[in-house]
Amino acid sequence: MGEKQIVAVARELEEGKSITDVKDVPQTVYLCVRNDIPGGIREDDLVLHSHEECLRNKKFQAENFKHIEEESNKKHAQRIIQAVDNVYAVVNPPYPTMTTQELDASFDLPYTREPHPKYRGKVIPAYEMIKFSVNIHRGCFGGCAFCTISAHQGKFITCRSKESIIKEVKQVAQMPGFKGNLSDLGGPSANMYGMEGRNPKACEHCKRPSCINPEICPNLNTDHSKLLEIYHAVDRLPEIKRSYIGSGVRYDLLLHESKDPKSNEAARQYTRELIVRHVSGRLKVAPEHTSDRVLRLMRKPSFKQFYAFKRIFDRINKEENLREQIIPYFISSHPGCQEEDMAELAVLTKDLNFHLEQVQDFTPTPMTVSTETWYTGYDPYTLEPVFSAKTPREKLAQRQFFFWYKPEERKNIERELRRIGREDLIARLYDRPQKFYGKVKYDPRAIGSSPDLPSSGVSGRKDRVNHGNRPAKPQSVRGKTPKSFNPNFSPQRRGKK
Ligand code: SF4
Repeated sequence: MGEKQIVAVARELEEGKSITDVKDVPQTVYLCVRNDIPGGIREDDLVLHSHEECLRNKKFQAENFKHIEEESNKKHAQRIIQAVDNVYAVVNPPYPTMTTQELDASFDLPYTREPHPKYRGKVIPAYEMIKFSVNIHRGCFGGCAFCTISAHQGKFITCRSKESIIKEVKQVAQMPGFKGNLSDLGGPSANMYGMEGRNPKACEHCKRPSCINPEICPNLNTDHSKLLEIYHAVDRLPEIKRSYIGSGVRYDLLLHESKDPKSNEAARQYTRELIVRHVSGRLKVAPEHTSDRVLRLMRKPSFKQFYAFKRIFDRINKEENLREQIIPYFISSHPGCQEEDMAELAVLTKDLNFHLEQVQDFTPTPMTVSTETWYTGYDPYTLEPVFSAKTPREKLAQRQFFFWYKPEERKNIERELRRIGREDLIARLYDRPQKFYGKVKYDPRAIGSSPDLPSSGVSGRKDRVNHGNRPAKPQSVRGKTPKSFNPNFSPQRRGKK
């Protein structure tokens, strides 16, 4: 994030330096000729393939990205240098991870908690989504391949103090329109608060992009106790009726069997409390795919873990007499994903009785390993070629499988399954026709999630874009049949059209 370097650059400018002479601020990038690189190109600098070489050979670009990502996930990064157009881009190593005191001080700044004045009077769905939410930590060690959070915030977690969080919750409680419901007490991932390596020395030299993929690092302390303390402290406040968790929950952390029995007990307690007290009717989780091969490229856990978590979710719902829904997110057209993977996703999610709603077609975003794979055609870590669906036709062919249950999709899906030699899946999708009442409408815009907010009735997930900015749909009410929240689907009973 930018707090420290903005201040450092401003100070140097205030002292009269020209912006082109500001070269010593950590976490900043500048262009200069070779002779002006402070200290020259040193042995401990990481010199990348030049921009021009990358344009000639995309494998070089893929290779570069691996180094950039590794450096951005290290405690002590090297300076990175790349030649471009007869000059050099010099990337200074970042500041050390912020301390709790520094993060608290940043949250103490006099923010207005208002949208920019130019939006005055307009309803901004993204603002409605976060208006009554409080961020409790920074950083994410998940390393999901399509996400830029760790590039922005780092892999190492910095937690706000309990006092700082409570102070902000009390401020939120004074805001006009607040009715006692916090829409999110979260962070980049909901349940990483207070987690770090048990042995900090091991983390000092680590360059893994994720602490939990391909498996949970044995050094990672996955204890949810500190997070539970925060939830309990917030819920004790008289101003708060309910605090919801709207940020994405990493269920692989909840399922992890640690060697520490206290951690395991805290994970069980967290899971129950999350489901019983902090879900507003629908718990959103992000398996992202069902194919283990695609999931490996996404750096997400096996779909088997989703089954395991759903079993726990269903059991707790039954025990507590709740009627919550679990809402899974999926992505089509991710690098490595083929139509056959999407066809299998359709069959597996049908077997689970899902009519998918929260889905997204992969959109390349800068600084992610997925995007580099998509652009270069190579996995940056193995340099093996990887297929990506790129043309509108290829992308649609994948995306349509999300909506296998829409009558007008059936013909295309059957034709596509025959074309790819998976006629066997036709019977699995359509042998037991499910009753379908309703009129289906397509939105030509990219499909994004429309998140839930307990107080506003707007729904959404912070780390996704709601491309359509669609109007809020009503919340499901405990005890009543939930309505469809599919942004492309307007439920209408037959006969009432
Ligand atoms: S050693 Fe383990 S816990 Fe520490 S940063 Fe590396 S992966 Fe994460």
